[in-house]
Amino acid sequence: MKRLLVLALAATSLFANAQTPYPGTKPISIVVPFAAGGPTDRVARDLAEAMRKAMGGSANFVVENVNGAGGTIGATKVAKANPDGYTLLLHHIGMASAPSLYRKLQYKPLEDFEYLGMINEVPMTLIGKPQLPANTYRDFENYIKANAGKLNIAHAGLGSASHLCGLMWQSAINAKEAMTTIPFGGTGPAMNALVGGQVDLMCDQTTNTTGQIEAGRVKAFAVTTAKPLSKHKLLKDYPSLQEMGLKGFDLTIWHGLYAPKGTPAAIQTQLNNALKIALKDPEFMKKQDGLGAIVVTDKRVEPAAHKAFVTAEIAKLKPVIDAAKQFAD
Ligand code: ASP
Repeated sequence: MKRLLVLALAATSLFANAQTPYPGTKPISIVVPFAAGGPTDRVARDLAEAMRKAMGGSANFVVENVNGAGGTIGATKVAKANPDGYTLLLHHIGMASAPSLYRKLQYKPLEDFEYLGMINEVPMTLIGKPQLPANTYRDFENYIKANAGKLNIAHAGLGSASHLCGLMWQSAINAKEAMTTIPFGGTGPAMNALVGGQVDLMCDQTTNTTGQIEAGRVKAFAVTTAKPLSKHKLLKDYPSLQEMGLKGFDLTIWHGLYAPKGTPAAIQTQLNNALKIALKDPEFMKKQDGLGAIVVTDKRVEPAAHKAFVTAEIAKLKPVIDAAKQFAD
């Protein structure tokens, strides 16, 4: 009798599970490994809204900012989370730079996550506080060199996009010793410090800089793509660093969506389908376009191609980071 009861209960709970649709009303947390108000946070909030619509309007996405250590604290949290589809990670190029920068990384980017698809690609801009005397890139570079040891550059922690860009730029102009680096929990707060004149310069995604440049709250000097952004209505007149003589300089940041390893395949498919619909949402596309981001439309919206891309990025970034000789525990 007791055995029958156990069997009956087990059957009931199996039936209940089979009947519980994902996601139901339970919130799906999108962990952003940087502070609120920065570029990763912004894309996550816009994407969360587009994915909510893509999943029929009732899915409840919440953005959770878990910042610190260049995005590795948030990524670790998701790598160790319950793989039930209710904790996701939205991360950028840091997914590929961290394995070369951190000696004791708590997760393996290619083994501890399910890849759900890429979201966008974003150029960066080199910007300075409004009080800087320079107005062109050439003046800016001369000013940096003439003020070696006196200036500071903000970034979002070791392994962040802003850190990577700063490293590459400083080594390209031979100014590694010229600046003190100031880490923040994300470039949202770093931007406030720059606008307030507490730090001197920063390199950040156009999604965070465009509005500030337009409002005259920061000065822009160059873009990091190989060619200038000739189609962008605000940034089209800024030179690319490559044009300014920094041979081979070409940096674009990308964002992707991940779930902890072991998330059920059916949930991964559901999330990937919703992502693909969200990326075509006219409102999402318009916002991204206005901020200078390019929504991914190629095969990297598929998990396998997304993972192959990150694998290639890890290999591409390793020699750059090794050459800069900056490591963290
Ligand atoms: N843009 C930042 C970075 O430099 C991160 C952020 O706050 O989104 O990586």
